[in-house]
Amino acid sequence: MDAIRIGHGYDVHALQEGLPLVIGGVVIEHEKGFVAHSDGDVLAHALSDALLGALSLGDIGLHFPDTSGEWKGADSMELLRQVYGMVTSRGWTLANADMTVLMQRPKLRPHIDRMRENIARTLDVPVDKVSVKATTEERLGFTGAEQGAAAHAVVLLVRR
Ligand code: MG
Repeated sequence: MDAIRIGHGYDVHALQEGLPLVIGGVVIEHEKGFVAHSDGDVLAHALSDALLGALSLGDIGLHFPDTSGEWKGADSMELLRQVYGMVTSRGWTLANADMTVLMQRPKLRPHIDRMRENIARTLDVPVDKVSVKATTEERLGFTGAEQGAAAHAVVLLVRR
């Protein structure tokens, strides 16, 4: 039986004026927010997909379909909590997670520690297991043009 498993997640949401911007469960003051069926929290979605991917459990689109009214406007941190429940109920625990948000504006640095704390609290793990980084893509591509934001996540799971 495996002792460790690795997972990767990636997510993108478009940005539009006048919508709320929620990343890592932090509501950020900005003129644009995510176009999404849920709250569009790219970081929570990427991390959820990494956790599911580590155990070959599909992706969040499979477990929380955007065709279902049940998940409309959903709090993505609550979806993340449910996903991690699937992980722990199978006998696995998070060794660590490392994530990167790709976004041109606003500056995310002031919000990073709250994102880490929100995620750690949601998973009930120590905050030092949760790394969140942010970068711009130097005004290139869709993140550079402020048309959207993306997030990558990798996780390592260990047997409890
Ligand atoms: Mg998403």
